[in-house]
Amino acid sequence: MTKMSQLEDHIKELEEIQRYNRGLIEASIDPMLTTDTDGIITDVNEQMVNITGHSRKRLIGTPFKEYFTDPEEAYEGIKETLAEKMVRDYELTLISQTGKQIPVSYNATVFTDAEGNVKGVFAVARDITEYKKMEQEIKESQRYNRGLIESSIDAMLTTDTDGIITDVNEQMIRITGRLREQLIGTPFKEYFTNPEVAYEGIIKTLSEKMVRDYELTLVSRAGKEFPVSYNATVFTDASGYVKGVFAVARDMTEHKRLEKELKSYTENLEVKVNERTEELKIQQERESSYNQILTTLNASIDLSIMLKNGLNEIVQHLNAPFGVIYLYDIEENVLKTAATHAVKKELLTAQFEVGEGIPGEAALERKTLIIKDIPQDERYHIDFGVMEANPKTIMSIPIVFRKNLLGTIVIGFLTDVSEDTQQFLQRIVSQFGIAINNAQSYDMVQNMAQELQEYSGQLEKSNQLKDLFTDILRHDLLNPAGLVRGFTDVLLSKEIDEKNKELLKKVHNNNEKLIDLIETASKFAKLESTEELEFERNDIGIIFKNVVDNFAQLAEDKEMTIEFLADGEYFANVNPIIEDVFSNLLSNAIKYSPKGSRIILDIQDADPDWRISVTDFGFGIADEDKTKLFQRFKRVDKKGIKGTGLGLAIGKRIVELHGGDVGIENNPEGQGSVFWVTIEKA
Ligand code: ADP
Repeated sequence: MTKMSQLEDHIKELEEIQRYNRGLIEASIDPMLTTDTDGIITDVNEQMVNITGHSRKRLIGTPFKEYFTDPEEAYEGIKETLAEKMVRDYELTLISQTGKQIPVSYNATVFTDAEGNVKGVFAVARDITEYKKMEQEIKESQRYNRGLIESSIDAMLTTDTDGIITDVNEQMIRITGRLREQLIGTPFKEYFTNPEVAYEGIIKTLSEKMVRDYELTLVSRAGKEFPVSYNATVFTDASGYVKGVFAVARDMTEHKRLEKELKSYTENLEVKVNERTEELKIQQERESSYNQILTTLNASIDLSIMLKNGLNEIVQHLNAPFGVIYLYDIEENVLKTAATHAVKKELLTAQFEVGEGIPGEAALERKTLIIKDIPQDERYHIDFGVMEANPKTIMSIPIVFRKNLLGTIVIGFLTDVSEDTQQFLQRIVSQFGIAINNAQSYDMVQNMAQELQEYSGQLEKSNQLKDLFTDILRHDLLNPAGLVRGFTDVLLSKEIDEKNKELLKKVHNNNEKLIDLIETASKFAKLESTEELEFERNDIGIIFKNVVDNFAQLAEDKEMTIEFLADGEYFANVNPIIEDVFSNLLSNAIKYSPKGSRIILDIQDADPDWRISVTDFGFGIADEDKTKLFQRFKRVDKKGIKGTGLGLAIGKRIVELHGGDVGIENNPEGQGSVFWVTIEKA
């Protein structure tokens, strides 16, 4: 290889290296340039062309400083680099061709020729727009944080690890009444009533990294004390090294005040609860007294015992020295002493007219009378028999039940009488009203029962007398009459003298009449005292027909025709004695009708009854007599016909014992009557 070609190669190699270096320079994202020692640009890279917007040609040969907002500063930079051989982070603001301002940070060095002479400056700029923006943001956020800190209503401060204040916020200044400068650099503990405890708080925070609710009392410059509660933490630098304590104090003045208020409120509440409990206790005692008195009132139905016991209970429960109950006597219109408690004897019989005296006034007005503040002097001195006292209050309460005055209760007290006691007494007295009314009603019922019993005794007696009379009738009258009948029959058969015979016949007839009367009367008396009959289901049509058969001869004797219309079945629950009713009616019809007249017998369905009727064409009965006939011994217009006047009365009684009815109507077909009875169907 020739020397020439060696040189060529070397040059090529150098060119290669240069191209490489230049390539690096051009590819750099940082704008680069060189200036001569006067600050005239001698070279620029591509990025410099881009950022300034000027062509390489325009840039080279012009002063470096021309492209910055502050040319002096830019020129200073060049000079500083030449003097110091190097500058770092030299900040300038570049102006592009379009006028855009770009913050840049320069690192610059000098460059020399082969001999080591300084030829100029090589400056590398960095676009710090982003960085500047970030810096701004940080500043803003810092300001924001600080703002928060300053505006906090909590007093905040930082101390170093020795407890010397390094920073304070606005509230801390306000609360202590000192300037920021006066606070910073002084020991934290100086501002508290108990510096030792304050210092311990700092130490505790440093050792435990955090304390909560640490209570201290801060003293302001003016000497005012503030209770404060601290929350404190340690704070570190970027590398985690503890720099000091950040303490947030809360002014507890309001809190303490509320606490105090709460305490007094709680205490107050306690007092109130106690008072109310006491009230309830009294009420409960009242209620139990009330129930006790009520029990006493209900325990006895005997009026005087009930009043006495009730009054005793009242005076005991109310701690009253005396009491009187007066009952109202409606007939005499006076109040009479009915029960007393601790009242001397003379008062026991006292009585007051309505309107008179203390009990009378309350009774008249029907209103409670309260006499208060009775003077404590001789005039009002009351001798109660068992004690002597001057009552301070007297209450006179009318006892009223359903608007009726029953009496008055007068109670004397040695003290004033509370509203409560008055109401209580009022309630009790209304219970007295009920109890007295009950007792009086009971007395009344008791008396009525007594009277009823006496009356029923009398009735019993009169029944016994009737029975006795019936027995006398049957045995003491019927037997001799029977004997008379026997004797006259014998005498009649033997007597030949017509006159004597006539007399004997009269005796015989009258005796027969007497026997008939005795028999019917005793039958009636027996039926009168009979309550119930025994029944049997029977066809009353058949019974009726038998009666007709018994009277056939009698009717024939009077040439009368009996028309028996009942031809069905007529079942009813009857006693055989029912036959007497039919006999009596048919016998009367024959008796009280003229010779040759008709008699119509019928049984009709008058659901739920059978209606049995006897129609005659006889003398008839006047309307005013119709009801009388069924009474015993009532006979009208006898027309010389013999009878006892008991037949219809007996018949009516028998029908009634069957649950039926009797009646008389005029014969609708003309002269005569219709006698009817009803018997329930079965
Ligand atoms: P006595 O027939 O024994 O007098 P009653 O009690 O049977 O008693 O009758 C009472 C009175 O009713 C009779 O005295 C008579 O005056 C009247 N009387 C009863 N039945 C009839 C009748 N069918 N017609 C008219 N009067 C009658």
